[in-house]
Amino acid sequence: MRTWSPSELTAYFWTQINSGILVRPVCRSCGANFFSPQVLCPSCQSDSWEYEESSGHGYIYSFTEIHRPPDSSFPSPLIVADIELDEGWRMFSWIVGCRSEDVRIGSRVYVTFEDFDAGTLPVFKIN
Ligand SMILES: [Zn+2]
Repeated sequence: MRTWSPSELTAYFWTQINSGILVRPVCRSCGANFFSPQVLCPSCQSDSWEYEESSGHGYIYSFTEIHRPPDSSFPSPLIVADIELDEGWRMFSWIVGCRSEDVRIGSRVYVTFEDFDAGTLPVFKIN
């Protein structure tokens, strides 16, 4: 069984983000796509999984609007969304580049990358 420290578990994800590539864990035993990265596959508990590149395309599963962002480098209002990617996995992120009144559950989105004080983060734009 592989052993991970938290930084080992996520280092490849962040390296890829800094290169403008979105990846997610894919289980070699059962084929599940999942996120966030975990030691064991949440579907079958196998430790045999690898990162694979995502298309970065998906849709808004749900969202909310936050008027007090975590720090001044974030936009306000901040539209936090639960994104369902086309490979069947979900991640929380932000919707950028549109007015909050234009955001709808089910809207198609694609990933892009923006620099915040905390570092480069994957965010999404409406198609
Ligand atoms: Zn699995």
